[in-house]
Amino acid sequence: MIVIGGGLAGLAAGVALAESGWRVRLFEQRPFLGGRATSYVLPDGEHVDNCQHVTLGCCTNLDDFYRRVGAAGKIKFFDRLLFLDPQGRKGEMQAGILPAPFHLTGSFATFAPLNLLDKLSIARAMLDILKTQGKPADIQVEGGISMLEWLRRRGQTKRAIERFWRVVLVSALDEELDRTDARFGVDVFWKAFLSNSTGYRMGVPAVPLANLYDGCKSEIERRGGEVNLRATVRGLKMENGELAGIRFDEGREESADDYVFAVPHTALAELLPESLKQCDPSLANLDKIKVASITGVHFWFDRTVMREPFVTLLDTTTQWIFNKTALYADSNGAGQSSAAGQYLQLVISASYDLLQKSRQEIIDLCLAEVYVALPAAREAQLVKATVIKEAAATFSPEPGVDRYRPKQQTSVPHLFLAGDWTATGWPATMEGAVRSGYLAAEVLLHAEGTHRAFLQPDLVPDGFIAMWLGKRHTVALTRP
Ligand SMILES: Cc1cc2nc3c(=O)[nH]c(=O)nc-3n(C[C@H](O)[C@H](O)[C@H](O)COP(=O)(O)OP(=O)(O)OC[C@H]3O[C@@H](n4cnc5c(N)ncnc54)[C@H](O)[C@@H]3O)c2cc1C
Repeated sequence: MIVIGGGLAGLAAGVALAESGWRVRLFEQRPFLGGRATSYVLPDGEHVDNCQHVTLGCCTNLDDFYRRVGAAGKIKFFDRLLFLDPQGRKGEMQAGILPAPFHLTGSFATFAPLNLLDKLSIARAMLDILKTQGKPADIQVEGGISMLEWLRRRGQTKRAIERFWRVVLVSALDEELDRTDARFGVDVFWKAFLSNSTGYRMGVPAVPLANLYDGCKSEIERRGGEVNLRATVRGLKMENGELAGIRFDEGREESADDYVFAVPHTALAELLPESLKQCDPSLANLDKIKVASITGVHFWFDRTVMREPFVTLLDTTTQWIFNKTALYADSNGAGQSSAAGQYLQLVISASYDLLQKSRQEIIDLCLAEVYVALPAAREAQLVKATVIKEAAATFSPEPGVDRYRPKQQTSVPHLFLAGDWTATGWPATMEGAVRSGYLAAEVLLHAEGTHRAFLQPDLVPDGFIAMWLGKRHTVALTRP
Protein backbone atom coordinates (compact mmCIF):
# COMPACT_ATOMS: atom_id res chain seq x y z
CA MET A 1 0.00 0.00 0.00
CA ILE A 2 1.21 3.50 -0.69
CA VAL A 3 0.08 6.40 1.49
CA ILE A 4 0.86 9.90 0.25
CA GLY A 5 0.92 12.53 3.00
CA GLY A 6 2.20 12.24 6.57
CA GLY A 7 -0.40 14.39 8.29
CA LEU A 8 -2.85 12.88 10.78
CA ALA A 9 -5.06 11.45 8.02
CA GLY A 10 -2.19 9.67 6.27
CA LEU A 11 -0.70 8.50 9.57
CA ALA A 12 -4.05 7.16 10.82
CA ALA A 13 -4.60 5.28 7.54
CA GLY A 14 -0.98 4.07 7.48
CA VAL A 15 -0.99 2.78 11.06
CA ALA A 16 -4.39 1.10 10.61
CA LEU A 17 -3.28 -0.64 7.41
CA ALA A 18 0.05 -1.69 8.95
CA GLU A 19 -1.81 -3.12 11.96
CA SER A 20 -3.92 -5.10 9.51
CA GLY A 21 -0.84 -6.81 8.17
CA TRP A 22 -0.19 -4.74 5.04
CA ARG A 23 3.19 -3.36 4.07
CA VAL A 24 2.73 0.41 4.08
CA ARG A 25 5.05 2.80 2.26
CA LEU A 26 4.33 6.37 3.29
CA PHE A 27 5.66 9.36 1.33
CA GLU A 28 5.71 12.83 2.92
CA GLN A 29 7.12 15.87 1.20
CA ARG A 30 8.35 17.61 4.34
CA PRO A 31 11.27 16.56 6.58
CA PHE A 32 8.87 15.80 9.49
CA LEU A 33 5.51 14.15 10.15
CA GLY A 34 2.27 15.71 11.38
CA GLY A 35 1.26 17.94 8.46
CA ARG A 36 -0.57 21.00 9.73
CA ALA A 37 -0.58 19.61 13.29
CA THR A 38 3.16 19.64 13.76
CA SER A 39 6.05 21.61 15.23
CA TYR A 40 9.52 22.54 14.09
CA VAL A 41 12.69 24.17 15.32
CA LEU A 42 13.29 27.87 14.62
CA PRO A 43 16.78 28.99 13.53
CA ASP A 44 17.46 30.09 17.14
CA GLY A 45 16.77 26.54 18.39
CA GLU A 46 13.32 27.23 19.86
CA HIS A 47 10.67 24.50 19.27
CA VAL A 48 7.39 26.01 18.08
CA ASP A 49 4.11 24.40 17.12
CA ASN A 50 2.87 25.37 13.70
CA CYS A 51 0.06 26.58 15.93
CA GLN A 52 -1.32 25.51 19.28
CA HIS A 53 -3.62 22.52 18.75
CA VAL A 54 -6.23 21.34 21.21
CA THR A 55 -8.58 18.38 21.31
CA LEU A 56 -11.84 17.82 23.19
CA GLY A 57 -13.19 14.90 25.18
CA CYS A 58 -15.64 14.15 22.36
CA CYS A 59 -12.80 13.51 19.87
CA THR A 60 -12.89 9.75 20.35
CA ASN A 61 -10.98 8.76 17.20
CA LEU A 62 -8.06 11.10 17.85
CA ASP A 63 -7.93 9.69 21.37
CA ASP A 64 -7.87 6.15 19.96
CA PHE A 65 -5.12 7.11 17.50
CA TYR A 66 -2.95 8.65 20.24
CA ARG A 67 -3.37 5.42 22.23
CA ARG A 68 -2.42 3.22 19.27
CA VAL A 69 0.82 5.16 18.72
CA GLY A 70 1.72 5.58 22.39
CA ALA A 71 1.08 9.34 22.52
CA ALA A 72 -1.99 9.44 24.78
CA GLY A 73 0.14 10.16 27.85
CA LYS A 74 1.47 13.31 26.17
CA ILE A 75 -1.95 15.02 26.23
CA LYS A 76 -3.03 16.90 29.38
CA PHE A 77 -6.78 17.20 29.92
CA PHE A 78 -8.39 20.18 31.68
CA ASP A 79 -11.89 20.37 33.19
CA ARG A 80 -11.96 24.13 33.65
CA LEU A 81 -12.18 26.68 30.83
CA LEU A 82 -11.52 30.29 31.86
CA PHE A 83 -12.91 33.33 30.01
CA LEU A 84 -11.77 36.92 30.53
CA ASP A 85 -13.27 40.16 29.20
CA PRO A 86 -11.46 43.52 28.82
CA GLN A 87 -13.17 44.81 31.98
CA GLY A 88 -11.47 42.04 33.94
CA ARG A 89 -14.68 40.02 34.45
CA LYS A 90 -14.04 36.29 34.62
CA GLY A 91 -16.26 33.44 33.54
CA GLU A 92 -15.70 29.74 34.04
CA MET A 93 -16.97 26.57 32.43
CA GLN A 94 -16.53 23.58 34.67
CA ALA A 95 -18.67 20.53 35.23
CA GLY A 96 -20.44 20.49 38.59
CA ILE A 97 -22.17 17.65 40.38
CA LEU A 98 -25.27 17.69 38.17
CA PRO A 99 -25.48 15.05 35.43
CA ALA A 100 -25.54 15.87 31.68
CA PRO A 101 -27.03 18.01 30.20
CA PHE A 102 -26.99 20.13 33.37
CA HIS A 103 -23.31 19.54 34.28
CA LEU A 104 -22.26 23.06 33.20
CA THR A 105 -25.36 24.83 34.52
CA GLY A 106 -23.72 25.97 37.75
CA SER A 107 -20.78 27.72 36.10
CA PHE A 108 -23.03 29.08 33.34
CA ALA A 109 -25.38 30.64 35.91
CA THR A 110 -22.51 32.58 37.48
CA PHE A 111 -20.78 33.42 34.17
CA ALA A 112 -20.13 37.15 34.74
CA PRO A 113 -19.50 38.29 31.13
CA LEU A 114 -23.17 37.50 30.25
CA ASN A 115 -26.35 38.95 31.81
CA LEU A 116 -29.61 37.17 32.61
CA LEU A 117 -31.24 37.99 29.26
CA ASP A 118 -28.23 36.63 27.37
CA LYS A 119 -28.30 33.46 29.42
CA LEU A 120 -32.02 32.91 28.95
CA SER A 121 -31.68 33.27 25.19
CA ILE A 122 -28.78 30.79 25.16
CA ALA A 123 -30.74 28.35 27.32
CA ARG A 124 -33.66 28.48 24.84
CA ALA A 125 -31.38 27.63 21.91
CA MET A 126 -29.70 24.86 23.93
CA LEU A 127 -33.11 23.38 24.71
CA ASP A 128 -33.81 23.23 20.99
CA ILE A 129 -30.52 21.38 20.40
CA LEU A 130 -31.38 19.00 23.24
CA LYS A 131 -34.93 18.27 22.12
CA THR A 132 -33.75 17.46 18.60
CA GLN A 133 -30.60 15.59 19.72
CA GLY A 134 -28.48 18.00 17.75
CA LYS A 135 -30.60 17.84 14.58
CA PRO A 136 -33.05 20.77 14.48
CA ALA A 137 -35.26 20.52 11.38
CA ASP A 138 -34.25 23.88 9.91
CA ILE A 139 -30.57 22.93 9.49
CA GLN A 140 -31.28 19.87 7.40
CA VAL A 141 -32.13 21.87 4.26
CA GLU A 142 -30.30 21.48 0.94
CA GLY A 143 -27.37 23.88 0.87
CA GLY A 144 -27.57 24.42 4.66
CA ILE A 145 -28.16 27.64 6.58
CA SER A 146 -25.58 29.73 8.38
CA MET A 147 -25.07 29.48 12.14
CA LEU A 148 -25.77 33.20 12.45
CA GLU A 149 -29.12 32.76 10.72
CA TRP A 150 -29.94 29.82 13.01
CA LEU A 151 -29.13 31.92 16.08
CA ARG A 152 -31.17 34.87 14.80
CA ARG A 153 -34.16 32.60 14.32
CA ARG A 154 -33.80 31.71 18.00
CA GLY A 155 -33.75 35.33 19.15
CA GLN A 156 -30.23 35.35 20.55
CA THR A 157 -29.07 38.62 22.11
CA LYS A 158 -26.16 40.46 20.49
CA ARG A 159 -23.98 39.79 23.50
CA ALA A 160 -24.92 36.08 23.60
CA ILE A 161 -23.83 35.81 19.98
CA GLU A 162 -20.57 37.73 20.44
CA ARG A 163 -19.52 36.49 23.86
CA PHE A 164 -20.75 32.93 23.77
CA TRP A 165 -21.64 31.38 20.41
CA ARG A 166 -18.95 33.20 18.42
CA VAL A 167 -16.27 32.61 21.04
CA VAL A 168 -16.81 28.85 21.10
CA LEU A 169 -17.51 28.31 17.42
CA VAL A 170 -14.90 30.49 15.73
CA SER A 171 -12.26 28.62 17.73
CA ALA A 172 -13.79 25.20 17.11
CA LEU A 173 -14.63 25.68 13.42
CA ASP A 174 -12.21 28.39 12.23
CA GLU A 175 -14.90 30.45 10.56
CA GLU A 176 -17.20 33.39 11.25
CA LEU A 177 -20.80 32.54 12.17
CA ASP A 178 -22.27 33.94 8.94
CA ARG A 179 -19.98 31.62 6.94
CA THR A 180 -20.48 28.51 9.06
CA ASP A 181 -22.99 25.79 8.27
CA ALA A 182 -25.33 25.61 11.29
CA ARG A 183 -25.06 21.82 11.13
CA PHE A 184 -21.42 22.00 12.31
CA GLY A 185 -22.17 24.65 14.93
CA VAL A 186 -25.08 22.78 16.48
CA ASP A 187 -23.09 19.53 16.43
CA VAL A 188 -20.29 21.11 18.48
CA PHE A 189 -22.75 21.96 21.26
CA TRP A 190 -24.53 18.61 21.13
CA LYS A 191 -21.35 16.49 21.18
CA ALA A 192 -19.05 18.63 23.32
CA PHE A 193 -21.38 20.35 25.77
CA LEU A 194 -24.72 18.58 26.08
CA SER A 195 -24.82 14.85 25.40
CA ASN A 196 -21.99 13.78 27.69
CA SER A 197 -20.48 15.42 30.77
CA THR A 198 -16.88 14.87 29.61
CA GLY A 199 -17.21 15.92 25.96
CA TYR A 200 -16.11 19.53 26.69
CA ARG A 201 -12.85 18.59 28.49
CA MET A 202 -9.96 20.20 26.69
CA GLY A 203 -6.85 18.20 25.83
CA VAL A 204 -3.63 20.11 25.24
CA PRO A 205 -0.37 18.48 24.12
CA ALA A 206 2.32 18.65 26.80
CA VAL A 207 5.06 18.31 24.18
CA PRO A 208 5.82 20.01 20.86
CA LEU A 209 3.36 18.55 18.33
CA ALA A 210 5.95 16.67 16.24
CA ASN A 211 6.81 14.58 19.33
CA LEU A 212 3.36 12.99 19.18
CA TYR A 213 4.19 11.03 16.04
CA ASP A 214 7.33 9.11 17.06
CA GLY A 215 5.25 5.95 17.48
CA CYS A 216 3.72 6.16 13.98
CA LYS A 217 6.99 5.63 12.18
CA SER A 218 7.99 2.73 14.40
CA GLU A 219 4.52 1.14 14.11
CA ILE A 220 4.69 1.22 10.29
CA GLU A 221 8.32 0.08 10.17
CA ARG A 222 7.77 -2.68 12.75
CA ARG A 223 5.32 -4.25 10.29
CA GLY A 224 7.79 -4.15 7.40
CA GLY A 225 6.74 -0.79 5.99
CA GLU A 226 8.66 2.44 5.50
CA VAL A 227 8.22 6.16 6.11
CA ASN A 228 9.93 8.32 3.47
CA LEU A 229 10.42 11.99 4.31
CA ARG A 230 11.37 14.73 1.81
CA ALA A 231 9.54 12.61 -0.79
CA THR A 232 7.28 14.85 -2.88
CA VAL A 233 4.83 13.12 -5.20
CA ARG A 234 4.72 15.08 -8.47
CA GLY A 235 2.05 13.24 -10.37
CA LEU A 236 0.11 10.07 -11.07
CA LYS A 237 1.16 7.48 -13.60
CA MET A 238 -1.78 6.35 -15.72
CA GLU A 239 -1.73 3.26 -17.97
CA ASN A 240 -4.71 2.39 -20.18
CA GLY A 241 -6.80 4.83 -18.17
CA GLU A 242 -5.90 3.13 -14.87
CA LEU A 243 -3.83 4.34 -11.95
CA ALA A 244 -0.53 2.49 -12.26
CA GLY A 245 1.84 4.39 -9.97
CA ILE A 246 3.07 7.69 -8.64
CA ARG A 247 5.86 9.87 -9.98
CA PHE A 248 8.61 11.68 -8.11
CA ASP A 249 11.44 13.95 -9.27
CA GLU A 250 14.14 12.69 -11.60
CA GLY A 251 11.88 10.16 -13.28
CA ARG A 252 11.52 7.96 -10.17
CA GLU A 253 8.28 5.99 -9.97
CA GLU A 254 6.70 3.78 -7.33
CA SER A 255 3.73 1.46 -7.57
CA ALA A 256 1.56 -0.55 -5.19
CA ASP A 257 -1.71 -2.49 -5.01
CA ASP A 258 -3.58 0.52 -3.63
CA TYR A 259 -2.98 4.23 -3.03
CA VAL A 260 -4.29 6.48 -0.27
CA PHE A 261 -3.91 10.14 -1.14
CA ALA A 262 -3.90 11.97 2.20
CA VAL A 263 -2.82 15.40 0.97
CA PRO A 264 -4.79 18.67 1.32
CA HIS A 265 -7.61 19.05 -1.22
CA THR A 266 -5.79 21.92 -2.92
CA ALA A 267 -2.73 19.69 -3.46
CA LEU A 268 -4.86 16.79 -4.72
CA ALA A 269 -6.60 19.05 -7.24
CA GLU A 270 -3.20 19.80 -8.75
CA LEU A 271 -2.03 16.18 -8.77
CA LEU A 272 -5.10 14.59 -10.33
CA PRO A 273 -5.17 14.39 -14.13
CA GLU A 274 -8.31 15.77 -15.83
CA SER A 275 -9.25 12.27 -16.97
CA LEU A 276 -9.65 11.07 -13.37
CA LYS A 277 -11.66 14.13 -12.37
CA GLN A 278 -14.04 13.36 -15.21
CA CYS A 279 -14.16 9.68 -14.31
CA ASP A 280 -15.44 10.43 -10.78
CA PRO A 281 -17.66 13.54 -10.44
CA SER A 282 -16.86 13.75 -6.71
CA LEU A 283 -13.28 14.63 -7.67
CA ALA A 284 -14.37 17.53 -9.86
CA ASN A 285 -15.54 19.77 -7.01
CA LEU A 286 -12.34 20.12 -5.02
CA ASP A 287 -11.88 23.75 -6.04
CA LYS A 288 -15.31 24.58 -4.57
CA ILE A 289 -14.02 23.83 -1.06
CA LYS A 290 -12.76 27.17 0.28
CA VAL A 291 -10.10 27.68 2.96
CA ALA A 292 -9.95 29.68 6.20
CA SER A 293 -6.97 31.13 8.04
CA ILE A 294 -5.49 30.87 11.55
CA THR A 295 -2.72 33.07 12.96
CA GLY A 296 -0.48 32.07 15.84
CA VAL A 297 1.53 34.65 17.77
CA HIS A 298 4.40 33.48 19.99
CA PHE A 299 5.69 35.70 22.82
CA TRP A 300 8.67 35.00 25.06
CA PHE A 301 8.77 37.17 28.21
CA ASP A 302 11.70 37.51 30.60
CA ARG A 303 9.55 36.55 33.58
CA THR A 304 6.32 34.82 34.56
CA VAL A 305 3.29 36.89 33.53
CA MET A 306 0.54 34.24 33.59
CA ARG A 307 -0.46 31.53 36.09
CA GLU A 308 -3.36 29.82 34.29
CA PRO A 309 -2.53 27.10 31.70
CA PHE A 310 -4.72 28.91 29.15
CA VAL A 311 -7.37 31.59 28.98
CA THR A 312 -10.01 32.65 26.41
CA LEU A 313 -10.29 36.39 25.76
CA LEU A 314 -13.62 38.05 24.97
CA ASP A 315 -14.12 41.08 22.65
CA THR A 316 -10.50 41.09 21.43
CA THR A 317 -8.63 40.05 18.30
CA THR A 318 -6.67 37.55 20.40
CA GLN A 319 -8.93 34.59 21.13
CA TRP A 320 -6.76 32.33 23.28
CA ILE A 321 -3.55 32.65 25.26
CA PHE A 322 -1.74 29.39 26.05
CA ASN A 323 0.90 29.27 28.74
CA LYS A 324 3.33 26.98 26.93
CA THR A 325 5.86 27.02 29.75
CA ALA A 326 3.27 25.61 32.17
CA LEU A 327 1.87 23.17 29.62
CA TYR A 328 5.32 21.76 28.86
CA ALA A 329 6.34 21.55 32.52
CA ASP A 330 7.08 18.01 33.74
CA SER A 331 7.54 16.82 30.18
CA ASN A 332 10.48 16.75 27.83
CA GLY A 333 9.04 19.55 25.70
CA ALA A 334 10.87 22.73 24.88
CA GLY A 335 9.91 25.81 26.83
CA GLN A 336 11.40 24.62 30.08
CA SER A 337 14.59 26.04 28.68
CA SER A 338 13.15 29.51 29.18
CA ALA A 339 14.32 29.19 32.83
CA ALA A 340 12.71 32.09 34.70
CA GLY A 341 11.00 33.46 31.58
CA GLN A 342 7.69 32.48 30.08
CA TYR A 343 6.58 31.39 26.62
CA LEU A 344 3.01 32.22 25.60
CA GLN A 345 1.20 31.29 22.41
CA LEU A 346 -1.79 33.28 21.18
CA VAL A 347 -4.32 31.96 18.67
CA ILE A 348 -6.60 33.88 16.32
CA SER A 349 -8.92 31.72 14.19
CA ALA A 350 -10.69 32.98 11.05
CA SER A 351 -7.92 35.59 11.07
CA TYR A 352 -8.74 37.06 7.64
CA ASP A 353 -8.15 40.63 8.86
CA LEU A 354 -4.60 39.80 9.95
CA LEU A 355 -3.44 38.34 6.66
CA GLN A 356 -2.74 41.78 5.18
CA LYS A 357 -1.09 43.14 8.36
CA SER A 358 2.65 43.13 8.86
CA ARG A 359 4.34 40.97 11.47
CA GLN A 360 5.04 44.05 13.63
CA GLU A 361 1.45 45.33 13.39
CA ILE A 362 0.17 41.95 14.60
CA ILE A 363 2.67 41.84 17.45
CA ASP A 364 1.73 45.38 18.57
CA LEU A 365 -1.99 44.63 18.42
CA CYS A 366 -1.73 41.37 20.36
CA LEU A 367 0.77 42.71 22.87
CA ALA A 368 -1.60 45.56 23.78
CA GLU A 369 -4.32 42.96 24.43
CA VAL A 370 -1.97 40.81 26.51
CA TYR A 371 -1.16 43.87 28.67
CA VAL A 372 -4.88 44.28 29.43
CA ALA A 373 -5.52 40.59 30.08
CA LEU A 374 -2.30 39.90 32.01
CA PRO A 375 -1.28 43.05 33.92
CA ALA A 376 1.99 41.41 35.04
CA ALA A 377 3.15 41.50 31.40
CA ARG A 378 3.31 45.32 31.52
CA GLU A 379 6.32 45.08 33.84
CA ALA A 380 7.96 42.31 31.82
CA GLN A 381 10.29 42.57 28.88
CA LEU A 382 9.28 40.91 25.63
CA VAL A 383 12.41 38.98 24.73
CA LYS A 384 11.28 37.85 21.29
CA ALA A 385 8.17 37.25 19.22
CA THR A 386 7.15 35.19 16.20
CA VAL A 387 4.04 35.34 14.03
CA ILE A 388 2.91 32.32 11.98
CA LYS A 389 0.11 33.03 9.51
CA GLU A 390 -1.59 29.98 8.01
CA ALA A 391 -3.75 31.33 5.19
CA ALA A 392 -5.13 27.87 4.37
CA ALA A 393 -5.30 26.42 7.86
CA THR A 394 -8.57 24.53 7.40
CA PHE A 395 -11.33 24.14 4.87
CA SER A 396 -14.08 26.66 5.45
CA PRO A 397 -17.19 24.99 6.95
CA GLU A 398 -19.46 27.23 4.91
CA PRO A 399 -23.13 26.31 4.43
CA GLY A 400 -23.50 23.36 2.08
CA VAL A 401 -19.78 22.50 1.90
CA ASP A 402 -20.52 18.82 2.59
CA ARG A 403 -21.85 18.54 -1.00
CA TYR A 404 -18.30 18.94 -2.25
CA ARG A 405 -16.49 16.60 0.14
CA PRO A 406 -15.70 13.29 -1.59
CA LYS A 407 -15.93 9.93 0.16
CA GLN A 408 -12.75 8.01 0.98
CA GLN A 409 -13.55 5.41 -1.67
CA THR A 410 -13.53 6.82 -5.19
CA SER A 411 -14.88 5.17 -8.31
CA VAL A 412 -11.31 4.97 -9.63
CA PRO A 413 -9.97 1.47 -8.87
CA HIS A 414 -7.23 1.45 -6.21
CA LEU A 415 -7.51 5.20 -5.53
CA PHE A 416 -8.56 6.08 -1.96
CA LEU A 417 -8.68 9.46 -0.24
CA ALA A 418 -8.08 10.67 3.29
CA GLY A 419 -7.89 14.16 4.76
CA ASP A 420 -9.92 16.36 7.09
CA TRP A 421 -11.70 17.73 3.99
CA THR A 422 -13.10 14.35 2.86
CA ALA A 423 -16.62 13.28 3.85
CA THR A 424 -16.45 12.56 7.56
CA GLY A 425 -19.35 14.68 8.80
CA TRP A 426 -16.80 16.49 10.96
CA PRO A 427 -15.28 19.93 10.45
CA ALA A 428 -11.56 20.42 9.71
CA THR A 429 -10.05 19.07 12.90
CA MET A 430 -7.49 16.50 13.99
CA GLU A 431 -10.46 14.28 14.87
CA GLY A 432 -11.84 14.69 11.34
CA ALA A 433 -8.44 13.87 9.86
CA VAL A 434 -8.08 10.66 11.91
CA ARG A 435 -11.66 9.64 11.10
CA SER A 436 -10.91 10.06 7.41
CA GLY A 437 -7.76 7.93 7.72
CA TYR A 438 -9.62 5.16 9.54
CA LEU A 439 -12.44 5.26 6.99
CA ALA A 440 -9.96 5.10 4.11
CA ALA A 441 -8.30 2.05 5.69
CA GLU A 442 -11.69 0.38 6.18
CA VAL A 443 -12.89 0.86 2.58
CA LEU A 444 -9.50 -0.12 1.16
CA LEU A 445 -9.43 -3.35 3.19
CA HIS A 446 -13.02 -4.03 2.20
CA ALA A 447 -12.08 -3.63 -1.48
CA GLU A 448 -9.27 -6.13 -0.86
CA GLY A 449 -11.71 -8.58 0.69
CA THR A 450 -10.87 -8.02 4.38
CA HIS A 451 -13.19 -6.49 6.95
CA ARG A 452 -11.85 -4.46 9.82
CA ALA A 453 -13.43 -1.63 11.79
CA PHE A 454 -11.29 1.23 13.04
CA LEU A 455 -13.83 4.02 13.42
CA GLN A 456 -14.58 4.62 17.09
CA PRO A 457 -18.05 5.34 18.45
CA ASP A 458 -19.00 8.79 19.70
CA LEU A 459 -19.11 9.29 23.45
CA VAL A 460 -22.13 7.51 24.86
CA PRO A 461 -24.76 9.99 26.10
CA ASP A 462 -24.74 10.02 29.89
CA GLY A 463 -26.67 11.47 32.83
CA PHE A 464 -30.28 12.50 32.19
CA ILE A 465 -29.64 12.43 28.44
CA ALA A 466 -28.99 8.70 28.61
CA MET A 467 -32.17 8.16 30.64
CA TRP A 468 -34.15 10.36 28.30
CA LEU A 469 -32.87 8.64 25.19
CA GLY A 470 -33.23 5.25 26.86
CA LYS A 471 -29.87 4.36 25.37
CA ARG A 472 -27.69 4.13 28.43
CA HIS A 473 -26.14 0.90 27.25
CA THR A 474 -26.11 1.49 23.53
CA VAL A 475 -23.27 2.87 21.51
CA ALA A 476 -23.92 5.28 18.64
CA LEU A 477 -21.56 4.75 15.76
CA THR A 478 -21.46 7.81 13.53
CA ARG A 479 -20.65 7.28 9.89
CA PRO A 480 -20.78 10.00 7.27
C1 LIG B 1 -2.87 26.94 12.49
C2 LIG B 1 -3.75 25.74 12.69
C3 LIG B 1 -4.36 25.52 13.92
C4 LIG B 1 -5.20 24.41 14.08
N1 LIG B 1 -5.76 24.14 15.31
C5 LIG B 1 -6.44 22.99 15.48
C6 LIG B 1 -6.89 22.61 16.78
O1 LIG B 1 -6.64 23.29 17.78
N2 LIG B 1 -7.57 21.44 16.91
C7 LIG B 1 -7.85 20.63 15.83
O2 LIG B 1 -8.46 19.57 16.01
N3 LIG B 1 -7.42 20.97 14.59
C8 LIG B 1 -6.74 22.12 14.39
N4 LIG B 1 -6.28 22.44 13.15
C9 LIG B 1 -6.67 21.59 12.02
C10 LIG B 1 -5.80 20.34 11.94
O3 LIG B 1 -4.43 20.69 11.98
C11 LIG B 1 -6.09 19.64 10.62
O4 LIG B 1 -7.47 19.40 10.52
C12 LIG B 1 -5.38 18.29 10.50
O5 LIG B 1 -4.07 18.34 10.98
C13 LIG B 1 -5.40 17.90 9.03
O6 LIG B 1 -4.71 16.68 8.83
P1 LIG B 1 -4.61 16.07 7.39
O7 LIG B 1 -3.78 14.87 7.50
O8 LIG B 1 -5.97 15.94 6.82
O9 LIG B 1 -3.88 17.17 6.48
P2 LIG B 1 -2.40 17.73 6.59
O10 LIG B 1 -2.02 17.87 8.01
O11 LIG B 1 -2.36 18.96 5.75
O12 LIG B 1 -1.48 16.61 5.94
C14 LIG B 1 -1.25 16.50 4.56
C15 LIG B 1 0.20 16.10 4.35
O13 LIG B 1 0.42 15.87 2.96
C16 LIG B 1 1.72 16.35 2.65
N5 LIG B 1 1.77 16.55 1.20
C17 LIG B 1 1.10 17.48 0.47
N6 LIG B 1 1.39 17.33 -0.84
C18 LIG B 1 2.25 16.29 -0.93
C19 LIG B 1 2.91 15.67 -2.03
N7 LIG B 1 2.72 16.07 -3.29
N8 LIG B 1 3.74 14.63 -1.77
C20 LIG B 1 3.94 14.17 -0.50
N9 LIG B 1 3.35 14.74 0.56
C21 LIG B 1 2.50 15.78 0.35
C22 LIG B 1 1.83 17.62 3.47
O14 LIG B 1 3.18 18.03 3.62
C23 LIG B 1 1.18 17.19 4.78
O15 LIG B 1 2.11 16.66 5.68
C24 LIG B 1 -5.44 23.54 12.97
C25 LIG B 1 -4.81 23.77 11.75
C26 LIG B 1 -3.95 24.83 11.62
C27 LIG B 1 -3.24 25.03 10.32
